Amino acid sequence: MPRIISAVYKGKIGMAQKGKKYAVGIDLGGTKIAVGMVDEAGHILSQARRPTGAEEGYRAVIGRMADAIRAVAEDSAVSLSEVSSIGVGVPGTPDFSDGTVIFAPNIGWRDVPLGRLLREEFGLPVYVDYDTNAAALGEYMVGAGKGARVLLFVTVGTGVGAGIVFAGKLFRGATGIAGEIGHMVMDKDGPPCTCGNIGCLQMFSKGPALADRAAQAIEGEEGSRSTVLRELLRAQGGGLTGEMVIKAAREGDPIARKVFEEGVLYLGLGIANAVSLLNPDVVVVGGGIAKAGDLLFKSLVKTVKERAYPMAAECVDIRLSMNSEEAAIVGAAMLEATWEPLKP
Ligand SMILES: [Zn+2]
Repeated sequence: MPRIISAVYKGKIGMAQKGKKYAVGIDLGGTKIAVGMVDEAGHILSQARRPTGAEEGYRAVIGRMADAIRAVAEDSAVSLSEVSSIGVGVPGTPDFSDGTVIFAPNIGWRDVPLGRLLREEFGLPVYVDYDTNAAALGEYMVGAGKGARVLLFVTVGTGVGAGIVFAGKLFRGATGIAGEIGHMVMDKDGPPCTCGNIGCLQMFSKGPALADRAAQAIEGEEGSRSTVLRELLRAQGGGLTGEMVIKAAREGDPIARKVFEEGVLYLGLGIANAVSLLNPDVVVVGGGIAKAGDLLFKSLVKTVKERAYPMAAECVDIRLSMNSEEAAIVGAAMLEATWEPLKP
């Protein structure tokens, strides 16, 4: 077992182990694995992507991860002996003590010993964290949240998640669960959520929720007005996705726009609540929804500014993520440098 380093991040980017100048950062997603060799200034020297291919089982996925690690080492001419650690952001719940992925439903993982397998393969310390935490750290170090005193990073895609960076370190809560903004209750009688609760924020704003609502609307009476959505649906030959709703909304489809605006309203209310609670100076919004650009941004800012506690709303700067893949990789690589073990 490598030692768990209790390093305090003091505003400078750097590796935790003396004399080591590089770290590998990995973003494990539902469809792709993005891997980068990162230097101590937070620059990505080389990058590789592989398909996740979760249906082949976790050993195949970790095999592709290992292959991509070797590829980025070769491309950047960095020897693995110069690498301080491997950091991985995962789409699920990690065991912070040994890097086991306890549960990651999107890729069908349960109790997968990711940390142990990568340690055995490379002989390096491995740090596994929520993908949202790694991305939040990356946004803080090199992205849209650079230098924030309190950063709230919110990502909206197949789910809604958040990471909080406070004074240069991830804020994890008492047991590592902090940041579950997607499960804030927004409606006491709302739709059922995958977590077992009802009326959670993500059931209004995540991509699949937008798709479901749009599908219901075009089946209903007003559906005939939705020409762009119908066209996209025909071209796709299958079900609607959140991306299709965003695309149709951008192209002026009235139903897509209505559904999207409602999703953004709830997202804005959730962020407004979080702003009142945390008083962040910067909120960064990333994930698939960030692609909606101006369509998202204006109404989101309006809602947060109007609905957060006025003195907290006044000083918060809301930004869209500029390069979320880069942030996810750099943040994963920097996990070791900011790691603090949770108290048992
Ligand atoms: Zn929930």
